[in-house]
Amino acid sequence: MGKITGFMELDRLEESYLPVQDRLKNYKEFVLRLTDEYAAKQGARCMDCGIPFCNNGCPVNNVIPDFNDLVYKQDWKNALTVLHSTNNFPEFTGRICPAPCEAACTLNIEDKPVGIKSIEHAIIDKAWEQGWVIPEKAFAPTGKKVAVIGSGPAGLAAAQQLARVGHAVTVFEKNDRLGGLLRYGIPDFKMEKHLIDRRVAQMQQEGVHFRTEVFVGEKPLDSCISNGSKQHIAPRELMQQFDAVILAGGAEQPRDLLIPGRSLDGVHFAMEFLPLQNKVNAGDTLSKQILATGKHVVVIGGGDTGSDCVGTSNRQGAASVTQLELMPQPPLHENKQLTWPYWPLKLRTSSSHEEGVEREFAITTKRFEADAQGKLTHVVTSAVRWESGKMQEIPGSERKLRADLVLLAMGFISPAQAILEAFGVEKDTRGNARASTDERGYLTNIEKVFAAGDMRRGQSLVVWAIREGRQCARAVDQFLMGYSDLPR
Ligand SMILES: Cc1cc2nc3c(=O)[nH]c(=O)nc-3n(C[C@H](O)[C@H](O)[C@H](O)COP(=O)(O)OP(=O)(O)OC[C@H]3O[C@@H](n4cnc5c(N)ncnc54)[C@H](O)[C@@H]3O)c2cc1C
Ligand code: SF4
Repeated sequence: MGKITGFMELDRLEESYLPVQDRLKNYKEFVLRLTDEYAAKQGARCMDCGIPFCNNGCPVNNVIPDFNDLVYKQDWKNALTVLHSTNNFPEFTGRICPAPCEAACTLNIEDKPVGIKSIEHAIIDKAWEQGWVIPEKAFAPTGKKVAVIGSGPAGLAAAQQLARVGHAVTVFEKNDRLGGLLRYGIPDFKMEKHLIDRRVAQMQQEGVHFRTEVFVGEKPLDSCISNGSKQHIAPRELMQQFDAVILAGGAEQPRDLLIPGRSLDGVHFAMEFLPLQNKVNAGDTLSKQILATGKHVVVIGGGDTGSDCVGTSNRQGAASVTQLELMPQPPLHENKQLTWPYWPLKLRTSSSHEEGVEREFAITTKRFEADAQGKLTHVVTSAVRWESGKMQEIPGSERKLRADLVLLAMGFISPAQAILEAFGVEKDTRGNARASTDERGYLTNIEKVFAAGDMRRGQSLVVWAIREGRQCARAVDQFLMGYSDLPR
């Protein structure tokens, strides 16, 4: 374990952020990673509990007490080996994971969990700087071919695992750049995109073949939010050319708000807004960009996507930003006795919230209003109360909010259905690809077609997508070879 008395002597130390006025000037990351000395002090606080709840709380089951101890001892190279043994992309999770591991840490009972995520961040960034992250090429090719549809964290993790055991993997991505929501959902200020390019380069050297701007489906699908494809491949062609297919296309169908005024100019899905700024940051010249500059922005939806809209709107120079949430405001602090070691429901204030936003809870949106020219001017809202799980509008609470731009960030209901239908894949009641994680191991009802990530489990997190990609890779390897040495 770290230092035997470390948890009594040393305090939790958060990573610090650049000041708000500095970080709002650009779209760059602003989190300052811990120095080696401070990371070692965080590692020293780990108690190496008999039952490591953190390890269970982490969806990829990172072996947290082991890397905490190694960082405490400043044995960074072995810490990297431990970290990479369970997580293909710690530079992603070390930045954007909500860290359920820390909620599960025993020291969280006193609200001072080990800064596990910051240690993870420190290990992997140091490792890249030191040149320790190198391609891990397969010993010998197996002669088997696998197609992965979608280059989000699930597809990338599956592809990397399969290439490392010798399968010839091709990743098909409909967009112009790789990474899925890491690339075109999550803003650059939370995760810069050169981190994806660096991993992709590593994977290419490991033998993964990437094909961008290729849509897999019966015909080009123009109805989904982000489709930059220039060609398409029909499922039957893929089935003929490959020995196994993994569907990792994410959950792209956003929840809509079908109220009067929905079709007004100025009302957009978050995912019509966010990717454009990421494209501009990447150097693209756009013929048209939805911009918050000088506008009164109303973000509908109180979650992470909404928070990303807040951060992006403030960087674009919005006149004001308001975020509305239908549910009541959660408590500031959780009752540990009831919730620990699980993920607690409590008020979460993101770095984007700190940059400036009016947050309102228990608010329903009734309609959007426009001026005589049809330009959006207001959002009409009403306060609600929740009783026994039922929502009731509070009479007389209707009011108008000034709005030039409305961003709908109310989550995603399912994957795009066309691709599942094109493969004949059965769906669960929520419209996700039906494939269990137990004995059938990510296999759908269609022979040699597997599904993983948000396309299988529904809208989730990057760390869950990595887990599913890794586990699905093992299932595919087992299917192709009759056995697998890949980790579960
Ligand atoms: C705005 C936003 C912010 C988020 N922030 C966070 C965060 O901070 N932390 C966190 O943990 N999670 C976050 N998430 C959730 C997280 O990004 C997703 O859970 C995760 O990316 C899912 O990974 P995936 O690989 O399953 O799918 P995705 O990342 O969605 O990737 C799927 C890919 O498949 C491609 N594709 C789909 N269909 C086809 C087809 N037919 N042919 C070819 N290609 C296809 C898509 O273009 C896409 O690139 C956020 C989500 C959003 C929308
Ligand atoms: S991946 Fe997420 S849950 Fe797992 S150790 Fe890292 S921050 Fe914690």
